[in-house]
Amino acid sequence: MSDPWITVFGSATDAEEATAAAGVIAANWMGNGPVVRQFEADFARHLGVPDAVMVNSGSNALHLAVRLLDLPAGSEVIVPSFTWVACAHAIILAGCRPVFCDVDVATMNVTAETVAAQLGPRTRAVMVVHYAGKPVRMDDILALGLPVIEDAAHAVDSGLNGRRCGTMGRVGVFSFDAVKNIASPDGGAVIAHGAEMLGTARRLRQCGIGKTGAEAALEGGRWWEHEIVEPFPRYLPNDVAAAVARVQLAKLPRLQTRRQAIWRRYQTELTGVPWLHPPVDAAKDEVHSFFTYPVRLDNGRRDALAWHLYERKIYTTLRYHPLHLSDIYRTGRPLANTEQLARDVLSLPLHPRMSDGDVARVISGIRDFKA
Ligand SMILES: *Cc1c(COP(=O)(O)O)cnc(C)c1O
Repeated sequence: MSDPWITVFGSATDAEEATAAAGVIAANWMGNGPVVRQFEADFARHLGVPDAVMVNSGSNALHLAVRLLDLPAGSEVIVPSFTWVACAHAIILAGCRPVFCDVDVATMNVTAETVAAQLGPRTRAVMVVHYAGKPVRMDDILALGLPVIEDAAHAVDSGLNGRRCGTMGRVGVFSFDAVKNIASPDGGAVIAHGAEMLGTARRLRQCGIGKTGAEAALEGGRWWEHEIVEPFPRYLPNDVAAAVARVQLAKLPRLQTRRQAIWRRYQTELTGVPWLHPPVDAAKDEVHSFFTYPVRLDNGRRDALAWHLYERKIYTTLRYHPLHLSDIYRTGRPLANTEQLARDVLSLPLHPRMSDGDVARVISGIRDFKA
């Protein structure tokens, strides 16, 4: 029997998630409803904040987050180039301009220095990404005095100094994509400070409609008329995704324990491979989320190692191809560390469905590589 493929990302769902989703479908209300509201309450409790607003993806949550800052048109927002494309798209969609900054090679995170290097007279905000789940040193970024959006898509369980990632800036963004630490068919959330911002987020996610029919009826109004506040896309979440996400959130401690065990085994067994640099662990005051395991390879070995593992049915990838090198966002200005990472980084398989045998196959695949 030949070995099955080992995927680089993945979820661990079972009959519990299936039952929760089936319950929603059997109850004949699959749309935005009570389960979304329950998930929002559970998720807010997990983060220790008063409330959260669920939407239908992390990418859309990023657009909503930039819009919530209410920046003047044409404002510049500093964002790492080493991130998911939707980070830059979100800034454009909100009428602003992305300005790409570099990251530190070891942590793959932005620092106050890499952000400060891009400050200009039109800079109005900063978007940071807690890469792989390792927290950005937020105090240094907040000290720059600009509103900060935290993309915590990798960092649902991360923290710094007793504070949760996604709750330290002005707006925090989470993803419940099918391979994120909390997996669902599709989903995301924003955390914002103050009831007003949260209320705006709730209106905007429903095509910018101010009151739902049910709310208007309760107030004795004409529930068939829409109060349109602002043109905005429909980012409404649904109860099927929320039901799956609720089960995953309840299981998160177990899922994280498994991710952490795989991470630790890689850290132990790959230390000492002379041409491979394992990722930096969480510092004493940090909690990591172990979303992905990004290694750096010396001297052009990355592509060869990726193919070597692929031949052994082990899938790996690079997160992320730099945005400032893509056709639509090309700036011509170099970001040396980001470009080095684009050449040298490979994400190894790390997800809670991996068996100990899978992890062993990845490690022996790397050890067989004739560097
Ligand atoms: C996954 C991810 C997103 C977007 O989330 P989706 O739910 O997939 O749209 C945003 N930023 C980062 C860094 C991500 O990894």
